[in-house]
Amino acid sequence: MNAEILSIGTELLLGEIVDTNSTYIARSLRDIGVNVFYMATVGDNLERIKENIQMGLSRSDLVITTGGLGPTVDDVTRQAAANAVGRELVFHQELLDDIAEKFKQFGARMSENNRIQAYIPADAIIIDNPVGTAPCYIIEDEMGIIISLPGVPSEMKYLMEHKILPYLKDKMDFSGIIKTRTLRTAGVGESHLDEKIADYMTHPNPTVGLAAHRGQTDIRLAARAETEEEANAMLDEMEAKVRERVGKYIYGMDKLPLQNALVERLKTQGKTLAILEIGTGHALHERIKAVPDGPDVIAHADSREAVTIGDDEDAFKQWLNDEVKSVLEQSGADVAIGIAAQENTTGIAVVTPRHNYSRVYQYSTDDVPNWAGNWGIGFAWRMLAERDDD
Ligand code: ATP
Ligand code: MG
Repeated sequence: MNAEILSIGTELLLGEIVDTNSTYIARSLRDIGVNVFYMATVGDNLERIKENIQMGLSRSDLVITTGGLGPTVDDVTRQAAANAVGRELVFHQELLDDIAEKFKQFGARMSENNRIQAYIPADAIIIDNPVGTAPCYIIEDEMGIIISLPGVPSEMKYLMEHKILPYLKDKMDFSGIIKTRTLRTAGVGESHLDEKIADYMTHPNPTVGLAAHRGQTDIRLAARAETEEEANAMLDEMEAKVRERVGKYIYGMDKLPLQNALVERLKTQGKTLAILEIGTGHALHERIKAVPDGPDVIAHADSREAVTIGDDEDAFKQWLNDEVKSVLEQSGADVAIGIAAQENTTGIAVVTPRHNYSRVYQYSTDDVPNWAGNWGIGFAWRMLAERDDD
């Protein structure tokens, strides 16, 4: 295995601090037999960090970065690493909770900025950082491996010794291949899935992990084996086990868009859909319409006056539920989805003649249509199941 090290920070380029991290990382890698071919330093610049990571991956197996994982606007390593391999950053509530807990123990107030530290490139392995606030990550990509460590030397050293070297040693023992498979779920929360398959998630091979996106969670299986057939067989077996427990939440594999799964279900059952949208800019309707050969959508007034949500979430939920129910009845559709978004509060209701589901969320991202759309589509999809005994 060969590697390069990228130290990140404008302070380094200005000569204000000496790059001792690279030296430490280089020595640690040498000790376990990883060859270091290049070391580079780059400032806190999104584009240049991305380019350097891409260049590193084009000629080495592994790029280790240090610095730029802090909470301030000039800490852009996460975004640059995600961009380098064409992934998005995914928010992890459990990481934010961890960070908040650390601040509490420290007797300090967490600032809104720290939220950014709970964003991790999609499908990365999260490395818990017990000696600092910023969680780190390992991205295993087709282009190669990216490992991002903090700039603070004591944190970097701790993580190198306790997390990264064991990980790399394990990797080097291995000559075969890694195959992954993504089972996409909807209409269920990450924590519920976690409860149902917790024991599989500690399984060493294949590994089973969850990646929560906006209102939708992936179950990611990864098998290491000597041959592709062997890896596929291992994945098949684990997939069957996972499906036995949570199969009813799995709407598809790999990159299948959620709305396609809903449309498919509507069409096989010959059912119709009504949509009520308030304050979402037709986002949900657009997604459904975009599915080739989609169903006829009975869209209802999206311009009605938004209610003032206030603090009474229950009243808001009830109001939305009643609105969506009346849309269902008036339209004669088989399922109706309603979303009402106002600032950071969004209500979702999904109603069929037999079921209804409604919920209110407080989002502090500006991606409400995606979040709410995924939940709405996901629950509609689930309610159209033959029978729902959950
Ligand atoms: P923080 O959460 O503290 O912002 P960070 O991951 O964003 O951490 P930086 O802001 O890049 O890291 O660096 C934090 C501090 O760590 C720097 O002020 C510097 O003192 C030290 N540091 C950063 N990079 C290096 C390096 N390559 N070598 C030695 N020290 C470093
Ligand atoms: Mg910083």
